[in-house]
Parts: sequence; C-alpha cells; structure tokens
Amino acid sequence: ANVASYLRHHKIKQTGTDVPMPLVGSAWQNLKERWRVEDYLIDNLVRFGWRHPTAVQRGAMPVMLDNRDALVGAPTGSGKTLTYLLPLLHHLGAPAKKEGYRAVVVCPTNELATQIHEQLRRLGDGRKWKINVLTKPTQAEKNQKQEASKKKYDVLITTPLRLVHAIEEEEVDLSAVRYLVLDEADRLLDEGFLQQTDSILAACTHPQLRKALTSATLPSGIEELAKTFMVDECRILVGKKDG
Ligand code: ADP
Ligand code: MG
Repeated sequence: ANVASYLRHHKIKQTGTDVPMPLVGSAWQNLKERWRVEDYLIDNLVRFGWRHPTAVQRGAMPVMLDNRDALVGAPTGSGKTLTYLLPLLHHLGAPAKKEGYRAVVVCPTNELATQIHEQLRRLGDGRKWKINVLTKPTQAEKNQKQEASKKKYDVLITTPLRLVHAIEEEEVDLSAVRYLVLDEADRLLDEGFLQQTDSILAACTHPQLRKALTSATLPSGIEELAKTFMVDECRILVGKKDG
C-alpha cells in the first residue's frame, strides 16, 4: 500500500525523523505482527467492541510502541487515550512487585483521571496491574498517608497540582518512571502548568524516560513546552487539512 495516500486518507500528518509506519489493515492484527503485543490486550479491545483503530491510534500508537517521544494533536473524542495506554501496558509488560511507579499519566481534572483509570483497568484486565489515582485527599486519607505511600503501584494517574504537592511532600517516588504522559495538555497550559511540568520532570529521574503529550490542538504554547523536554519526538496531527 502507498503510505502517503493512506495517511492522507485518514487525515494523519506525521513529522519527525524516521516516523514509524501507521497501523494499517482493518483490525488490531498489526499490533501483534509488528510489536508482539500480547493477546490479552487485543482481546480486551475486541471485548470493548472496538473493531478498528481510530485515525489517531493508527498514526500515534506506532510512535509510542517504537519507544519514541510523541506529540499528538487530535480532536476531542478521537480516541487519544488508547494511543498511550496500550503502548504503556505493552512496555511495562507485567505488574512489578517492588519497583514502584513506572508510568505516570497527568491530566487536567479528577474526573478525567477517573475516566482514564477506568479505561486502563479494563484494558489491563487479565493482569494484576496496580493503578493509583491520586486526587484531592480526604482527611482520613491524609492520616493514612504513610500507609498508602508504602504500597507499590505500577501506574499513577493524577492532576499536575496534586502531583506537584505529592512530590513536595515526598508522598511519591518517581525515580523508576519510564513513561510520562501529559494528557489534554492544551487544557493544562494556564495555571502555572509550565512550572509544574518542570517539577514533575525533575522528579522523573530515570535515564530512559519517554514522554508523550496529547492535545486537541497544537498551539504554539504546546509546541514550545514540548520543545523544552522532548527528545527526537514524532509529531502526529490528525483531522486538520494542513495544520
Ligand atoms: P479523546 O481523548 O481523543 O478525546 P477518548 O480516548 O476519550 O478520546 O475516546 C473517545 C471515545 O471513543 C471513548 O468513548 C472511547 O471509549 C471510544 N474509542 C476509543 N478508541 C476506539 C476505537 N478504536 N473504536 C471504537 N471506539 C473507540
Ligand atoms: Mg482525552
């Protein structure tokens, strides 16, 4: 197949060096053929009733599966969540016993964090993934802080303000984090997000940290932010004629 016309057909625009081929074909088989994505993940997608990848999933999942930094712009409702959740579980492989957080998803609201958690829980069904959603703590939880921080989770989903607080309070240890996702980054841009991002990045000290940033649009503020911490990233833009 002619990749260029395929990308045009799906309104996928890719920029970067050696951007991986999009997912082609009708179903999820490509994930298995190209990256040996495990059956349980694909089975769960089928169980959701999701028969085909969406355009942004076709364009952006290969970038993250290839372990590259990704800047993803696609409209609301286009399926951006799976583009990072599936590669994340694929790379983590199996729940770990002692390592602590290996992936962090940062999103604008507690409600969104809950939705991402729900999708991740369903996608990871069949493995005993330990996922923590960190939202505004209740007093009871504050009292139990010591207890909670001892637990070893694989994935953390939270908001920037809450995460920065947790870092400052030494409530979380992000030194084993390999995957940092900034979801819906356009909605995070005000409210001191640049500074929060700096603190979060400073806490993620693992040398092999991969980053993904998703956004409904890629305004210059997002591009500027991405430039400060992305390395040899691929940029995937969907749904714009010549954006
Ligand atoms: P975005 O983050 O781009 O706004 P979401 O990831 O929240 O979009 O997905 C939007 C909706 O599409 C959700 O209800 C999700 O369950 C559904 N969805 C995602 N991927 C697929 C797919 N491949 N096939 C069918 N539905 C999908
Ligand atoms: Mg989203």
